[in-house]
Amino acid sequence: MSDTIHTIAFYPGSFDPLTNGHLNIIQRALRVFDQVVVAMAQNINKRAMFTLEERRALVQECFVDEPRVSVVMFDGLMVEAARLHRATAVLRGLRGVADFETEFQMATMNNVLAPALETVFMMTEKSHFFVSSHLVREVASLGGDISPLVPEPVNRALRARIVRK
Ligand code: ADP
Repeated sequence: MSDTIHTIAFYPGSFDPLTNGHLNIIQRALRVFDQVVVAMAQNINKRAMFTLEERRALVQECFVDEPRVSVVMFDGLMVEAARLHRATAVLRGLRGVADFETEFQMATMNNVLAPALETVFMMTEKSHFFVSSHLVREVASLGGDISPLVPEPVNRALRARIVRK
C-alpha cells in the first residue's frame, strides 16, 4: 500500500442472487471507498438457489468493467475475514425497520469482537426498498418477471434455472 489513504469496504452477504438493491449499494459505496470487496458467506444455513461459484461469477460479470470491485468467499467469523482483506469498514444496506433490528444487533456484536472495525450503513434507494434476494427467487420460481429488479446476467441465469427445473 502506498502513502495515499486507501479505503476498503467489506460487503458481506449471501447474494443469492445479486439484485439491483445490492448493485446500487456497491455503486454508491464506490463513491465513498477506494475498493469494495463483495464477500460471500459460505456458512449460511439458508438453502441456496445458486452455488457460491455461480453467485461469484454473476457478481464478476456485472462488474467486469470495474476493477475496484472484487469478490471473495469467507467462512467463519466475518470480522476475521474483513481483517484478512484489510477492510477499513464493513458495508451493509438498510431497507427498513425490519433490517435495522438485526443489523443493529450484528453491528454491535461485531464491534465487541473487533472494536476498530466500523460498520457503515447505506440506506436503500427508494426504488429498491422492497427488493430482496429471497423475494426475487420466489417470484422468479413462480414465473413472474423479475427483470426490473435484477441485473441482466442475473435475470438470464434465473430464467435458465427455472426452465431447467
Ligand atoms: P438479502 O437480505 O436480500 O437476502 P443479503 O444477505 O445478500 O441479501 O444481503 C447483504 C446486504 O445487502 C445486507 O446488508 C442487506 O441489508 C443488503 N441489501 C439486500 N437487498 C438490499 C436492497 N434492496 N437495498 C439495500 N440493501 C440491500
